[in-house]
Amino acid sequence: MSDKNTLIRLHKVSVRYQTGTEALKEVSLEIGKEEFVFLVGSSGSGKSTFIKTLLREVRATSGELYVAGKSLNQLKRKEIPFYRRRLGVVFQEFRLLDDRNIFENVALAQRVTGVTRKEKIRKNVCGMLKTVGLAGKEKAYPKELSGGEQQRVAIARAMVNRPEILLADEPTGNLDPENSWEIMRLLEEMNRLGTTVIVVTHNHEIVDQMKKRVITVQKGHIVSDMKQGGYEA
Ligand code: ADP
Repeated sequence: MSDKNTLIRLHKVSVRYQTGTEALKEVSLEIGKEEFVFLVGSSGSGKSTFIKTLLREVRATSGELYVAGKSLNQLKRKEIPFYRRRLGVVFQEFRLLDDRNIFENVALAQRVTGVTRKEKIRKNVCGMLKTVGLAGKEKAYPKELSGGEQQRVAIARAMVNRPEILLADEPTGNLDPENSWEIMRLLEEMNRLGTTVIVVTHNHEIVDQMKKRVITVQKGHIVSDMKQGGYEA
């Protein structure tokens, strides 16, 4: 790590799929602890590949990638599940379990990490549901909630284990403008509470108004990286 505040560091990271497509081409960047970053760029530019590489779902073909002091290239297979617990993920399509209630959807994320004490799980899950504005909805099922509320559940699930990094892949892609703003405000709040947040989005209005760091990718390259940027892709 070049700096103690650096949480994510990529040095000339390339990803080539088996098909021959080079989805990332010698990408170098650093993201500090407690940063809020938008990742923008047209479809097919490599944004999802970037997220998947951070999650170690995709392996860098070359280059070095460090997250929280760990080299992802050197991560052993059995270390991967433990590594992934340090990251929370939110997707465009929520990905909740429809046959489980809201409490269970969030509690499951905690149980898989080995937390077994019921009281502890209850306290953490209810606390996180309160943070995302869903106190009282514990017994509801996903389909009984609006899209915005379902995305809040997904954020609670991603955050319940207190990850250092929250990755959001088009989190407002299925939401109307009002709910989109509420979700972005919530992500901003998570960031304020100390989590590094990386958001992939196509929402120009939000990117332009929030004045955060904006990294633009095109054809696997970073073409701009602005401290208080706007959507230019
Ligand atoms: P974005 O998220 O910006 O839309 P992706 O990272 O999904 O971009 O894709 C970047 C490029 O890599 C595209 O050309 C896409 O077709 C290709 N790609 C993505 N996933 C795979 C895969 N599993 N196998 C082969 N090519 C892929």
